[in-house]
Amino acid sequence: MEKSFLIKPVLDETYPVIEYGKGIFLFDKEGKKYLDAASGAVTANIGHGVTEIIEAMQEQAKKVSFVYRSQFTSDVAEMLAKKIAEWTPGDLNWSFFVNSGSEATETAMKMAIQYWQEKGIKTKIKVLSRWVSYHGITLGALSLSGHTGRRARFVPLLEDFPVINPPYCYRCPYNLEAPSCGYLCAHELETAIKRIGADQIAAFMAEPVIGAAGGAIAPPKDYFKTIKKICEDHDILFIADEVMTGYGRTGTMLASEHWGVIPDIVALGKGMGAGYAPIAAAVASEKVMEPILSGSKSVMSGHTLSANPQSCAVSLAVLEYLEKNKIINKVEGRGNYLKYQLEKLQDQFSFIGDVRGKGLLLGIEFVEDQSTKFPFPRNALITQKMVALAKEKGLLVYPAGAGIDGINGDSIIISPPLTITEREIDLLVHLLTETFEVFS
Ligand code: PLP
Repeated sequence: MEKSFLIKPVLDETYPVIEYGKGIFLFDKEGKKYLDAASGAVTANIGHGVTEIIEAMQEQAKKVSFVYRSQFTSDVAEMLAKKIAEWTPGDLNWSFFVNSGSEATETAMKMAIQYWQEKGIKTKIKVLSRWVSYHGITLGALSLSGHTGRRARFVPLLEDFPVINPPYCYRCPYNLEAPSCGYLCAHELETAIKRIGADQIAAFMAEPVIGAAGGAIAPPKDYFKTIKKICEDHDILFIADEVMTGYGRTGTMLASEHWGVIPDIVALGKGMGAGYAPIAAAVASEKVMEPILSGSKSVMSGHTLSANPQSCAVSLAVLEYLEKNKIINKVEGRGNYLKYQLEKLQDQFSFIGDVRGKGLLLGIEFVEDQSTKFPFPRNALITQKMVALAKEKGLLVYPAGAGIDGINGDSIIISPPLTITEREIDLLVHLLTETFEVFS
């Protein structure tokens, strides 16, 4: 085989070459077909090869693909910002477009710090978060991430922003159940704020459903209401990292909507471009923008390709496609159908400890034994094995962590395109069952 100079995730591994994609399927050069039950990395939310998106890309490319944000704006960027303001709850009206989820969370973090600075408060510069979380790979976003594996090599360069436990009911550190637990894991935030000092803290950031670090951990009912109240009581902004959950993945435009909470700032990514173009955003409320609008009048962030017209045209077309085909309305029903089938597999396979998640962001946690919930030994590499076995069967699933520390556990995320049909869900479950049969 010819020598490759491309830096792939594992340098000495051979990766199939994908030739094309159609709907929820990918096809490699050898002719093998894959059911994309991960939407890549929870990204290809409307499936592959959608004509409307391809046409929107072509149309924009014929006009202009790049204008520099410091010099010009574009119709598509303006229209996209307007549509996001309409589609998101409350007065989350102001979009700052970037190119990746990591840039979106870092921009959200900077906006929160700037908000306090513009109000004359310079000490509020920390942004707290949770252990068992993933907010991105760049150093600022990694500082926010309670993802031990991804932090390990860079610890001396990182801030210690993760401070509290996640709402991980399957392994509750207090051995209690919601709601009678009184949401002690949320109240840990109050303790952390008191210890650090509210005068030092700009914001708290959390994923509504914990993705890569936890394997689709959805919170109990009043968890986020409790978190938001603590933030408000202590003059701390609440940032929802909806990079994985936004644009309809859980059945509402933002997952925060399920729990009746409107964040001060939201980070969006992944599904925004649905894999057709790199685009992400930090979306701020009127409250956050007000002191900036009446102060410096400029958000201190930005990348060369911010608000790139080509990417904005794609994201606009994705929203229009979701709207025209009423896709988000169908997510809850499809998600329930898939979750029910996954739960049924628990009776068949004793290594399925937990089935969880929201909408079409579902997770399965693997354990040595259902009754003890003991995790597999770390060096058994169960998640990696499961992902590889599934791939052999022609099924793509997304590897994730689990465990209170985010490392001592194995889970996978099942997050097919939101356009998946019931028949395709049946095929997905069939391939997953075959995978588990090989494993057991
Ligand atoms: N935030 C969340 C919740 C994510 O899941 C991810 C990526 O997995 C990111 C941020 C970082 O996004 P990106 O990989 O586009 O930088």
